[in-house]
Amino acid sequence: MNMSAHLRNGLVGLHSVRRWRPSLRLSVGLLAVAVVVGMAVVLAEVVAGHLRSIAADAAVHNVEAIVRGYVDPQVDEGSLALDALPEPGISDELERLIVAGDIRVISIWSRDARIVYSTAAELRGRRFSIDDLVARAFLGTSISAYAVNQDHSEGTPGPTDTQPVLQIFVPIRGLVDGDPIGVYEVEQDARPIEDRVETTRRDVFLLALAAATVLLIILAVAFAGTSALLGRQNRLLRARAETERLLGVDLRRSEERFRSLVRSSSDVILIIDADGTIGYESPAVARVLGYDPEERVGTSAYDAIHDADVAWIRSLIADISTRTGAEAAADFRARHADGSWRWLQATAKNLLNDPAVSAIVVNYRDITDRRALEEQLRYQAFHDALSGLPNRALFMDRLDHALTRARRDQSAVAVLFLDLDDFKSVNDGLGHGAGDELLVSVAERLNRTLRDADTAARMGGDEFAILLEDAHDKHASVEIAERILEVLRAPFTVQGQHVRIRGSVGIALYTDPEQTADELLRHADVAMYAAKSQGKDRLMVFQPDVHLVTIDRHQLKADLHLALDNGEFTLLYQPVVDLESTTITGVEALIRWQHPRRGLIGPTEFIPLAEESGMIVPVGRWVLAEACRQGQAWQEGAARPLTMSVNLSARQIDDIGLIDDVAAALRDSGLDPALLTLEITESVLLSDMEVVMARLRALKSLGVRLAIDDFGTGYSSLSYLRNLPVDVLKIDRSFVAAVDSGTAERALVRSIVSLAQILGLETVAEGIEEPSQLAALRSAGAQFGQGFLFAEPLDAHRVPAALARVTSCARPRRRAASPAPRRGRRPVRAGITSTS
Ligand code: C2E
Ligand code: CA
Ligand code: CA
Repeated sequence: MNMSAHLRNGLVGLHSVRRWRPSLRLSVGLLAVAVVVGMAVVLAEVVAGHLRSIAADAAVHNVEAIVRGYVDPQVDEGSLALDALPEPGISDELERLIVAGDIRVISIWSRDARIVYSTAAELRGRRFSIDDLVARAFLGTSISAYAVNQDHSEGTPGPTDTQPVLQIFVPIRGLVDGDPIGVYEVEQDARPIEDRVETTRRDVFLLALAAATVLLIILAVAFAGTSALLGRQNRLLRARAETERLLGVDLRRSEERFRSLVRSSSDVILIIDADGTIGYESPAVARVLGYDPEERVGTSAYDAIHDADVAWIRSLIADISTRTGAEAAADFRARHADGSWRWLQATAKNLLNDPAVSAIVVNYRDITDRRALEEQLRYQAFHDALSGLPNRALFMDRLDHALTRARRDQSAVAVLFLDLDDFKSVNDGLGHGAGDELLVSVAERLNRTLRDADTAARMGGDEFAILLEDAHDKHASVEIAERILEVLRAPFTVQGQHVRIRGSVGIALYTDPEQTADELLRHADVAMYAAKSQGKDRLMVFQPDVHLVTIDRHQLKADLHLALDNGEFTLLYQPVVDLESTTITGVEALIRWQHPRRGLIGPTEFIPLAEESGMIVPVGRWVLAEACRQGQAWQEGAARPLTMSVNLSARQIDDIGLIDDVAAALRDSGLDPALLTLEITESVLLSDMEVVMARLRALKSLGVRLAIDDFGTGYSSLSYLRNLPVDVLKIDRSFVAAVDSGTAERALVRSIVSLAQILGLETVAEGIEEPSQLAALRSAGAQFGQGFLFAEPLDAHRVPAALARVTSCARPRRRAASPAPRRGRRPVRAGITSTS
């Protein structure tokens, strides 16, 4: 290390010295000063001491020289003998010496302790006691001593001298034997010596002080430098230790955060190896499956999986465990600790090659409730809400299966089509409530009459279909049909009244492997019409010549071709209202056919025919164009934008030209695409999903909105909803009809609404007829609705008035709690209903 660096360190170190406690700093400083001063003093004292003795020795030599040179020759035994008179010459000689130098007094002692000669006259001849110094001089040694305030004699009033003096005693040797015959005492002024000694002492003191100070500073700097160096190293070490500690803390913290995330996650995190052995399971397992988190560690994750699922789950895991990073998702059942089965939705990821994990990480949650809702919706989709019987969809499905079986093992299949005679009169006479009650009773009697293997279904309105499997021949089927007609003939009690009802049954037998379910049902339908036309309350077995009766339908189909050109179609518009404010936010276009001979025909009657013949495509094109034109016409003068909903049938979705038709309708009318909602039913989704998705995306790209119509009546898998580009869920009328009948139904609607909310979909409840339904729907959180309670489907020219009326009626929003808008006559069922 070079000097400047050292100095720098030292100065830095002095800074560190400043960090000492002040009292300690003061003591150390004082001690250092004391040591330095003390050393200087001691050194100065030592030097001064030496100097004084050297000076004394020199003075002694001087005096010896004088004694030997001047005094000895003149002094002898005699002149110093007792009582001898002092030789005056000697005294003169001594006085001369005094004048010459610093010598103040010179005396000569004789052996008898008498001062024989002295320059101080008052001392001459006097006798004194011999002190130690004089005694030693008499022994032959020259000796000197410093003294102060030398008093010459006791009692003698001499000048009291306070100055320092040097006393020198030199023996005077006799000529005879060399023994001292006297002592020559010189009292010399010590001040010059003392002055010199003092100066020297001061110089030495200062020099020593300076030297010691410099030395001390050097030492201090060196010490401080070292201490700074050590301090820095210490700080570095401490900082490193601190960083490590912090890092450790940080790591620990993030690890803890991760752990608590895992711990508090509502999903269970499961770590398994490739064999499915559990290495870890997060605490959520206690809530989801009722197990202690530790309980299953070390066991196989497959143990709890349902027998029906375990094999394919195993192969799924086996599959992903061969590919690094591979993921898989699955829904399956697992046993809860309480023994019940729970549906789990799981995702698994292969992190076997991730050194931090080395496992398959599974994330699962309980979806039992969701599955139950799906199950319930599926049940609804396949069952008639009123009677609880299977609906058309389930019936057709079972018929399909029965036909497949029949083709395979030549088993027999028959379809009975039952339509109640004059049901309309019950409905009209006793009210819809009585009509519904009657339908339920009919369903019960059907069920009682049939064997378990047979299926009775409600096809809509007062129409029922019965699937007979293993009905060996025509006679067996006829027998059952007769029994059905028989049980119907017994009177029913509806709302306390006896009601008589009859039915007509058409029977179609499976005879040809080429026959489809649709065909068989149509044949039964045709036979039923034949039975009706022959006077009702009877049965008819389908025979090819019975087909004549169907001319009616064929005729209708044929008429459809002309209807478009003849302008026989019209659109009615049913308002869609905001359930909270009951203001109209839009309308749904509903087609009607003004048949030249048969009068007004409803869509349920002719849309299926139009679909069969393909006429639905041009008819649908017309509906789109007309609805858009009308919709745009209403925008002018409307207080706020009015949405327009148009129904699309599955056949239209299949048609490649649909996108162009919609685009053309929008372009020609000028309607804002955002105001157009296209309604499709769930059944659309049954066809080729890829085509459907592509078509829906193309529609969406035009800027229109998409709605799922009659939600809950189709193949309600909630999972597909997530993937569809839809904006609106229209809750089917059957849910709305049941919503005020019980808590379970209400909960179902609530589930649908909350599902829609989760998926970000608007909800429109269809077929609201009663204020109680409105209240229940509101409390379930449904946003929009349609129904006779607000308005029936209206002629276009009546819509502007309705817009004004419903809006004004809804103004005092407080009344929303009991909104039954009893504005005159309650809206009647619009158009033609399909009941007979
Ligand atoms: P949807 O789309 O579910 O239409 C609602 C049906 O419920 C309409 O029957 C309407 O009159 C009826 N409705 C409305 N409010 C109530 C109510 O409060 N109670 C009851 N009981 N019914 C109510 P509509 O007009 O007979 O139409 C029947 C079906 O025909 C429609 O069902 C729709 O699927 C189809 N449809 C109508 N117009 C068209 C069309 O232009 N094209 C196609 N492809 N299908 C159409
Ligand atoms: Ca609709
Ligand atoms: Ca609907």
